[in-house]
Amino acid sequence: MPELPEVETIKRNLKPNIISKTISEIEILSPKNFLGNKKEVIGSKIMSVDRYGKVLVFKLAKPAKSSNKKYLNIHFKLSGQMLFANKVNNAVFKNKIPFTKGNTLPANTTRIIIKFKDKSGLFFNDLRKFGWIKISNKPLIPKGIDVLSKEFTVKYLEEVLPSRRPIKVALMDQNKITGIGNIYANDSLFLAKIHPQRLANSLTKLEINKLYISIKKTILDGIEDQGSSGADEAFILPDGSKGQHQRNFLVYQREKQPCLVCKSLIKRIKHHGRSSFFCSSCQK
Ligand SMILES: [Zn+2]
Repeated sequence: MPELPEVETIKRNLKPNIISKTISEIEILSPKNFLGNKKEVIGSKIMSVDRYGKVLVFKLAKPAKSSNKKYLNIHFKLSGQMLFANKVNNAVFKNKIPFTKGNTLPANTTRIIIKFKDKSGLFFNDLRKFGWIKISNKPLIPKGIDVLSKEFTVKYLEEVLPSRRPIKVALMDQNKITGIGNIYANDSLFLAKIHPQRLANSLTKLEINKLYISIKKTILDGIEDQGSSGADEAFILPDGSKGQHQRNFLVYQREKQPCLVCKSLIKRIKHHGRSSFFCSSCQK
């Protein structure tokens, strides 16, 4: 599932390609994945491309009625992808090929195609079909605080973490903090030397401080590597290339491999329905 660094990477890669472009058509191949009346946004120009947590938001305006602003909100959920093509009708991508030259059939995972006036366009692919594109009058900003926002402070973490839940579960609560999923939760806890099953209210002030620094570091490292495209990760960049952060995972998906600090073998446990990876010597 794309987490904050992956959605931020999509945003950065997409922005220069689509800003100021006018939507000429939206082809909805899977109605389940598109919410709203597409006629409301056809003819609109993309004014900005923003990210709020894991939600990507295009601010739109119709040239003649600039007060009539609409937003296209995109959630990638488990397996959503957004690919940009200079020419929609013969688009070829590095890894995934929604269209091949001379073949106008979309890939079997393409759910929505957003076409622009200049013949370029976006393919929203989603194998598992949980992702969505939604039209709204206001951006769909998640309730939780974004890790990269000014509001995400040590003090905030001290306020929202303590509960009788395991720390890893508390970290991934999108209503409190938005953007941290399984990859970055596992690696942040390793960096902070905290066991994923510790109860959130057992952390000392010093540990919360360490965790705060660790979250920031893993998220920023993930962005620098342009996200994670591991073997079972659906994430790819809008140009079809892969992220590189999987090469720099600390514990995530490193079961039975040596800990980068002490060489003990990394353990994996099923924990609240998700895999937790940790070093039992380093993390207490
Ligand atoms: Zn270790």
